[in-house]
Amino acid sequence: PVVLGIETSCDETGVGIVADGVLLGDALATSMDEHARFGGVVPEIAARAHLHAITPMVRHALDRAGVGFADIDAIAATAGPGLATAVQVGLAAGKAFALTLGVPLYGVHHLAGHAAVDILDHGPLPERSIALIVSGGHTSLLLLGDLARDPVIHLGDTADDAAGEAFDKVARLLGLPYPGGPAIDAAARHGDPAAIAFPRPMTAPGDPPYRFSFSGLKTAVARWTERHCGPLPVADIAASFQEALADTLTRKAVAACRDHHIDTLLLVGGVAANSRVRALAEQRCTAAGITLRVPAPRLCTDNGAMIAAIGGLLVRAGIPPSPLTLGADPSARLTYATIGKGLR
Ligand code: ATP
Ligand code: MG
Ligand code: FE
Repeated sequence: PVVLGIETSCDETGVGIVADGVLLGDALATSMDEHARFGGVVPEIAARAHLHAITPMVRHALDRAGVGFADIDAIAATAGPGLATAVQVGLAAGKAFALTLGVPLYGVHHLAGHAAVDILDHGPLPERSIALIVSGGHTSLLLLGDLARDPVIHLGDTADDAAGEAFDKVARLLGLPYPGGPAIDAAARHGDPAAIAFPRPMTAPGDPPYRFSFSGLKTAVARWTERHCGPLPVADIAASFQEALADTLTRKAVAACRDHHIDTLLLVGGVAANSRVRALAEQRCTAAGITLRVPAPRLCTDNGAMIAAIGGLLVRAGIPPSPLTLGADPSARLTYATIGKGLR
């Protein structure tokens, strides 16, 4: 089946077209630049930008995929979590296309999309895997079965900031542009990761093994910069912060695989685009005999292909589609790949 996926949960308007686990084409617009001067995403601006971009992106994606509306068998749209007004634009567009084309609509969980996208790069997922989802709003270690059918088991989440949020906040402290993740990644290339010994939060004996906390790490960077005299060694701070974060994330993810006797780690979400997180995960998984699966960087950050990917899995598993009365669920917790609370 050919599935058209729509993603509008934050500041990316993404449309992707997937057929049986193969990405046929996709298109992406972002309102990132419009938020830069505010230092973070402004929901009203994001929602308006989605409204402008959604139809052109659908057309682009169809053109690139070389298919027409008549070839679409199902629509998948992010129904949560995310910025309420932003999610609603994509979900409403998805409903309109589904209704007009006479095809089923799947309202899907954004994070299930982050996990599912890896099938486009590396084929079907194994029966069981551990997923580390690291994004702008979430940091979770999850036990995955069949993504379309089984509930997702949370081994641990972040107690405070998400990993991507930590990157964005530290970038701000260092005077680097928004979004902070790519800026820190770039700055860190010229820095020494051992220059400053920043803390590895929640890694002391007795700490919860699969939980995260990054607000203390961010505060440690803030204190260090406040105490420092003279020009800030931005590259060294960026590299040292990135190292502390990558070390914490990968250590816990590998431990979760070992403890649960699972041989596949799925590293996904925007922060999975980070060069050091990827390299350290590869190194530690190889040492532990774990297969690391991590999507290409462009598929780690928000995009439409990931929503089409999870939509495709749902269609193929015979999961019932969503009612057209489905409402957005801006704070949905990931338990199932579909969002199913109905009209609110
Ligand atoms: P969520 O998926 O939790 O709803 P989101 O959709 O805003 O949040 P993503 O698009 O998955 O998040 O990821 C965006 C985050 O990833 C931002 O915090 C950004 O700074 C971070 N990020 C992107 N590229 C990199 C990178 N190379 N290194 C580190 N962080 C990165
Ligand atoms: Mg974004
Ligand atoms: Fe995301």
